[in-house]
Amino acid sequence: MRQTLIAIDGPAGSGKSTVARAVAQRLGLEYLDTGAMYRAVTFAAIRRGIDPADAEPVGRLAAEVDIEVADAVTVDGVDATIEIRSPEVTRAVSAVAANPAVRRELVARQRLWAQARHGGVVEGRDIGTVVFPHADVKVYLTADDGERATRRSKEMLDMHYDQVAADIARRDHIDSTRSASPMAVASDAVHIDSTGRDIDAVVEDVLSLVAG
Ligand code: C5P
Repeated sequence: MRQTLIAIDGPAGSGKSTVARAVAQRLGLEYLDTGAMYRAVTFAAIRRGIDPADAEPVGRLAAEVDIEVADAVTVDGVDATIEIRSPEVTRAVSAVAANPAVRRELVARQRLWAQARHGGVVEGRDIGTVVFPHADVKVYLTADDGERATRRSKEMLDMHYDQVAADIARRDHIDSTRSASPMAVASDAVHIDSTGRDIDAVVEDVLSLVAG
């Protein structure tokens, strides 16, 4: 039996993790945070003393590292739930995500994840464009730059607002200009702007797309 597959893409701080998790819960589907997978490979590289920008060894690492992404994130059996959100990993993750060998490997794992569950809610940057171009529902979630930085700085207590805003702008730039599957809006995605909106209202918007 095939269940619904919902793709939610968008930049950092757009609210996509919160929305994707809530939508999954309401529909009784499982939820996959693909950003956590790129962060997990970045964490593994740093831990093994590999330069995250060194494409070849990082590509090899991506193929062999054991990653589990659920409520907790484990990397080679080690709980890295907190560490993958550290400023160090956040600074390096866009370079890892621009590596075509890493993307090939993680996209394959994301497809297997959805295949095993016959669907799910998957969030990231390239889910509606590359990973699941035939998703039942595609959402591209945004919010204005100031609001995204404000949301993220509430989560990143060890970083100042200015640092968070600069980090988001830098990642947006790298993520949208890289040659391997840049962050982009799928032509058939529904664009939702969450600026100034209650997250519950955005969740309802997404659910109405599923029902319709
Ligand atoms: O969503 P999050 O901010 O945790 O993602 C971390 C990074 O992972 C992004 O800045 C981006 O470089 C990368 N990413 C990606 N493709 C995805 C999900 C995340 O390139 N599908």
